[in-house]
Amino acid sequence: MCVVVALLLILFGLFAIFWQREYSSHQQVIQLSNAALRELAKDSLIERGKRMSEQLARAVGEPMANGDSAGVSDMAHEMIRHAQIRYIIVFDRNGTIVAAGGDSRQVGKPMVDPLAERALQAVHPTGQWANDMLDVASPVVYARQRIGGVRVGMAVGEPTDTQSQILQPITRHLDSASRWHHRWSIALLAMVALLGAAVVVLLEWRILGPIRQLGRIMAEDKPGQLQPLEIDEDREDEIGELMRAFSRMRAGVAKHDRDIRRMAYTDPLTGLANRLSFRELLDDRLLTLHASSGELALLFIDLDDFKRVNDTLGHEAGDEVLSQLATRLRLILERFQARGADIARFGGDEFIVLYMADDIRAASARLAEAVIEEIERPLVLGGKQVFLGASVGITMFPFDAYHAGQLLKNADIAMYQAKVAGKNCYRFYSRAMDQAVERRVQLEQDLRGAWDRGELSVAYQPIYTLADGRICGAEALLRWQHPHLGMVPPSVFIEVAEQSGLIESLGRNVLERACGDAARWQNGALRPFISVNISPRQLRSGELPDVVGNALRNSGLLPQQLHLELTETAVLVDEAQASALLSRVRATGVKVWLDDFGTGFSGLSHLRRVPVDGVKIDRSFVADVLRDPDDLALTTAIIAMAHSLGITVVAEGIETEGQYDVLRERGCDQGQGFWFGRPMSAADLAAKFV
Ligand code: C2E
Ligand code: MG
Ligand code: MG
Repeated sequence: MCVVVALLLILFGLFAIFWQREYSSHQQVIQLSNAALRELAKDSLIERGKRMSEQLARAVGEPMANGDSAGVSDMAHEMIRHAQIRYIIVFDRNGTIVAAGGDSRQVGKPMVDPLAERALQAVHPTGQWANDMLDVASPVVYARQRIGGVRVGMAVGEPTDTQSQILQPITRHLDSASRWHHRWSIALLAMVALLGAAVVVLLEWRILGPIRQLGRIMAEDKPGQLQPLEIDEDREDEIGELMRAFSRMRAGVAKHDRDIRRMAYTDPLTGLANRLSFRELLDDRLLTLHASSGELALLFIDLDDFKRVNDTLGHEAGDEVLSQLATRLRLILERFQARGADIARFGGDEFIVLYMADDIRAASARLAEAVIEEIERPLVLGGKQVFLGASVGITMFPFDAYHAGQLLKNADIAMYQAKVAGKNCYRFYSRAMDQAVERRVQLEQDLRGAWDRGELSVAYQPIYTLADGRICGAEALLRWQHPHLGMVPPSVFIEVAEQSGLIESLGRNVLERACGDAARWQNGALRPFISVNISPRQLRSGELPDVVGNALRNSGLLPQQLHLELTETAVLVDEAQASALLSRVRATGVKVWLDDFGTGFSGLSHLRRVPVDGVKIDRSFVADVLRDPDDLALTTAIIAMAHSLGITVVAEGIETEGQYDVLRERGCDQGQGFWFGRPMSAADLAAKFV
């Protein structure tokens, strides 16, 4: 608009200059014409002057010759009446004024004016100019004698009517021409101004408006909320092209935006919301609930022993399990017709459900039960059945906490308590749990340095040969006498040690101590063995063969007297590495036993691949061997299978004679349990050997 206005102003300026030029040239034409007319007028004046001076010279000849000065004077006065005549001078041969028309005071004086000289010499009528005055002098001749002269002074004066009449059509023509010019230039200017305005309007409507609209849309766009653009699809020009390109670009950006948000906000494996989006959702829900005083529950679901699936069946199978479970969880929520329910995958095997219902406590308990039941149902993976469990922690808003962060922490704590309570169950968060977590942290602190302070000791539980009922060895079991808490059960502190990594140094100490103690035992001709529990972490670190070698060297214990107890999980974490390590250990003569056999789900097939010398049937089977025919059948099968592979079978947790009898009948090689003897001090055990 500024450019258009500036152009218009320049145009106005040019027109103004043009008008000014035109006006001054008109003035010039008129001036020149005037001057030309004046010249013409002068010429005719000279002619008239000459005629009049000749006429006067002739008339005064005789009176002058006769000395009739009154007659001369009368003639001079007569002539001066003519309009253009300003003065009349009659002079004698000497230049003395004889008569002066109008001014008698001059008479008798000599002529002194600048033209006097030429007037005196004039032989013919002569015109001469002084300023705007014409002075025509003629000689007065009488009887062929020059007796004097006359001078007639005439004024050029104002333009005559004739002159004006001549000039009038020119002026008229010039005026009309300039009026015509003015009119047309004003019309032209108006047209140009109109055109400018039209250009501005058009520019605004067709170009600036759409561009401004684009700018406005861009400015109003919020990230993640690009609204679809309404554009004129039929527009053919560059702006139409630009709008379409912009619209396409915007659609592309919106799509990328959606993709990125989807990627950032969903878990790629299960398609569920991820931690980030769940956190946003939770914050959002809490905000509305704060206002509406509603209730909400968070269910923190953690699969039990999911690691074993990954370790034994591979990560692909693990992924498959997770996505199948995600589908199941979604279906449960649908079944519960949960309003405002949402589910997210939080990490590896953790899911979290946000649930809103009336009577939230009872409702979320029902939901948790359903979740656990659903996860318990066997999953089918490549034709094989996989059994899993889940521990669920529940926390409720507004009873337990107000903020998302605290609620999530509570749910996690409650879930952990469900694990501690034996897994595959749910627990509501309570403030007491916070203390449990604190206790755990405290326990870990206390456990550090406990060995050096002498709080930890090794107890030995004797192991018997079932066939003859004679003692053949013992299992080393770690004990912790806490200065304030008293005896802390291994089921509590071993896990703390495992998770904190303390188990590596503790395990090494137990091994050293157990080997040292066992080296002193003597059972007649037989050398009793010592069986030491090895944690999965010790196996994973890869130092086991060296640690074992050192312990044997330092104690002088024979390698065949040492048995290492490993759980299936420990061995199966990395079957190949474990096999290699165990082979190295076994090559030195040390024996390897699989502990808690039957509780894992690896089955006997792994026994072929992992080199072990024995299996310890878990005490949960032994406990029910008399009551549950299935357990008896399984135990029998394990014994038969192990024997066919040339592997020793040890039964744990024999508490009754009945159990002992059954196991002995089925051919179980060795056994341990309270019926034989509880874990005891090294000295007490040494006393059992004779
Ligand atoms: P485990 O290796 O299966 O050890 C056998 C557990 O069964 C011991 O529990 C033992 O006291 C218990 N037990 C033995 N006979 C009977 C019976 O007749 N009835 C019942 N109910 N229980 C019986 P404890 O000493 O509480 O140890 C628990 C677990 O802690 C052990 O299970 C082992 O996995 C772990 N553990 C103990 N000491 C160590 C250690 O030095 N290193 C490692 N890595 N783990 C250890
Ligand atoms: Mg053991
Ligand atoms: Mg065991």
